[in-house]
Amino acid sequence: MLNIGCHLSASAGFLAMGRQITELGGNTFAFFTRNPRGGKARPVDEADIKAYTDFAQKHAFAKIVAHSPYTLNPCSPDKHTREFAHMVFEDDMKRMELIPGNYYNFHPGSHVGQGEEQGISLICEMLNKYLNEAQTTTVLLETMSGKGSEIGSSFEQLRLIMDNTSFPDKLGICLDTCHVYDAGYDIVNDLDGVLEQFDKIIGITNLKALHVNDSKNPYQSHKDRHEKIGKGFLGIKTFENLINHPKLKNLPFILETPNDLDGYAAEIALLKRLYKET
Ligand code: FE
Ligand code: FE
Ligand code: ZN
Repeated sequence: MLNIGCHLSASAGFLAMGRQITELGGNTFAFFTRNPRGGKARPVDEADIKAYTDFAQKHAFAKIVAHSPYTLNPCSPDKHTREFAHMVFEDDMKRMELIPGNYYNFHPGSHVGQGEEQGISLICEMLNKYLNEAQTTTVLLETMSGKGSEIGSSFEQLRLIMDNTSFPDKLGICLDTCHVYDAGYDIVNDLDGVLEQFDKIIGITNLKALHVNDSKNPYQSHKDRHEKIGKGFLGIKTFENLINHPKLKNLPFILETPNDLDGYAAEIALLKRLYKET
């Protein structure tokens, strides 16, 4: 079965998201743990979480992939921005344990002129402070397009982050198809080659989820503008290859395409049609 879903609004709670994605034809989803601009998370509603957990079990949900706010930048040169990142990350780690065993995805950050080495060191400082042996959540580093001073646009950088943390087994990677193509990994013409490279540098078992987005921009553009599936430079064939690749086909695929809910339902149906069960 294809594990597919899209980004949903968290405002009505977990059970509402579970019901919504079922109606859209999916069995996993993503949501922002709080407003993308940061700020307060919704109060914890234990009854909602319990109802969601039962619902997800009954409907054979795959792991869900929470997304940190975009403003979380643990390697900012600005002290207040770093403190904010620590505060959000610490709180999000606690909240994620209320829905045990799922994924928490974040953008590693932008070093804004401090250089890659300092950036990676600050990212690891945050991870080392808040990851712990007992947690059931796997924290996913998202592959980035390399716009501005973003860290995480090369497999080597992601490897360095994992190598410099105390709990590498609590970490994994979320591969964003738009971002890696923009960053210069040619998943259109050489998906096998890219995955081999990933395996050599990071280890394919560390790949836990994918963001499936087409790209408005060509190869190596470092732009990060998502496009609807099949309408951009990746093209429909690339997505057919991705969802059916033996190394990928059992992972959760999350759509972050520019769509309303009807558009998401159509893309979910399209990818399910292209999926080969065996
Ligand atoms: Fe993201
Ligand atoms: Fe993404
Ligand atoms: Zn993006």
